[in-house]
Amino acid sequence: MVEKIAALVIGAGQAGVAMSEHLSKNGIPHLVLERNRIAERWRTSRWDSLVANGPAWHDRFPGMEFFSFSPDAFVPKDNVAEYFEAYAKMIHAPIRCGAEVKEVRRNIAGRPGFVAETSEGPIEAEYVVVATGAFQCPVIPNLVPQTAGITQIHSESYRNPGQLPEGATLVVGSGSSGVQIAEELLRAGRRVYLSVGPHDRPPRRYRGRDFVWWLGVLNKWDAEAPPATEHVTIAVSGAHGGHTIDFRRLSERGLTLLGRTEAFNDGVLTFAPDLSKNLANGDKNYLSVLDEADAYIARNGLHLPEDSEAREIPADPECVTHPILHLNMRDAGITSIIWATGFAADFSWLKLATFNETGAPKHQRGVAAEPGLYFLGLPWQSRRGSSFIWGVWHDAKFLADHITKQRGYLAYAGSAQPTPDAT
Ligand SMILES: Cc1cc2nc3c(=O)[nH]c(=O)nc-3n(C[C@H](O)[C@H](O)[C@H](O)COP(=O)(O)OP(=O)(O)OC[C@H]3O[C@@H](n4cnc5c(N)ncnc54)[C@H](O)[C@@H]3O)c2cc1C
Repeated sequence: MVEKIAALVIGAGQAGVAMSEHLSKNGIPHLVLERNRIAERWRTSRWDSLVANGPAWHDRFPGMEFFSFSPDAFVPKDNVAEYFEAYAKMIHAPIRCGAEVKEVRRNIAGRPGFVAETSEGPIEAEYVVVATGAFQCPVIPNLVPQTAGITQIHSESYRNPGQLPEGATLVVGSGSSGVQIAEELLRAGRRVYLSVGPHDRPPRRYRGRDFVWWLGVLNKWDAEAPPATEHVTIAVSGAHGGHTIDFRRLSERGLTLLGRTEAFNDGVLTFAPDLSKNLANGDKNYLSVLDEADAYIARNGLHLPEDSEAREIPADPECVTHPILHLNMRDAGITSIIWATGFAADFSWLKLATFNETGAPKHQRGVAAEPGLYFLGLPWQSRRGSSFIWGVWHDAKFLADHITKQRGYLAYAGSAQPTPDAT
């Protein structure tokens, strides 16, 4: 007997849990399959000390608070995982853990929906929601060969400083992962080099409000498309109570800043001459948030405290005014590299014609080109917030409503009255 269900959700991270909540609210029978445990990536794919980037009042679903944390606390990753587990229990989400989906294809001609081949046998579903995460496959640029005698790991495999060999570490990538890992290594007394690419670095707090609040009231979480410029990462940190990322201040504490890592030859790394430009653009982004916040305060007559110190940007350190463009790894004592260079998605198990030439899903707000198929949790799926905790909940609602609408069309049985003859 083939198991049958109206909607099959694949993955029980935050996206799968949110989807289950909205499908239940809409009365749609469904099943969530998770190959490991609920919120597995928060449990086992992140470093030991990671805390949420946003405070507890913000980085959560509307239906439940973090009970044992103050609203302004940055919740440790294990507690984030526990939160989603408790949430799933609260909404009675029909999640089956330890069940992997190995392939999804269209049902045979003449039968609606899809067939999912799973570790527990085939399942037929009219609707399939792919909620397998945006940060699936670590990407390491093909620059330094494994034979170079250097320990190389991706940020996904980084756990703590003790895992690295003695000696200096090069961290490549200036997004939240790269900068937080570099700072942790610096605190642990390590010699650290940080390769800084284009980035945004919003203020952690400004005039008494966290940046998540500013991005909210300024409608920036709801921005519908990424800036048309080159890809920029966002450098924020909730570690140690949260603070604004300022690369120059890290340099004051002993870290050496480098431009974008470009090449490796004979033990020598080459960096682009773009460090100063990357920092200047990061400052521009930072100051633009302050300006917009000031304008918002003035326009709305808010009584929020002044914060003139926020506009003080330290002078460029030596490593910025005289950037290192070539670095002999042995001379610099570098024994490890951490690549905080992002992730790619792998949808090769979806045997459906719904991808463009680069392998990205063709969709509109998560509604795939293939009728009946949905994606959830993609970066910029409908807006900037889509791949974040609070944003995915709203996208899940949109998808559940879309499925309800589609079921409404299919429920239409036609008029019982014969249509009058027009002639
Ligand atoms: C280092 C890091 C820190 C982050 N910090 C924050 C933060 O502080 N705040 C925030 O809002 N966002 C944060 N994010 C972004 C985002 O919230 C997380 O990546 C989150 O885990 C995404 O949730 P998801 O449910 O979309 O995907 P995932 O958490 O990746 O969940 C997907 C699930 O699908 C399962 N799965 C995959 N394939 C299959 C299959 N074939 N069959 C069955 N199950 C399958 C996986 O086991 C997994 O449990 C962070 C991301 C990273 C990488």
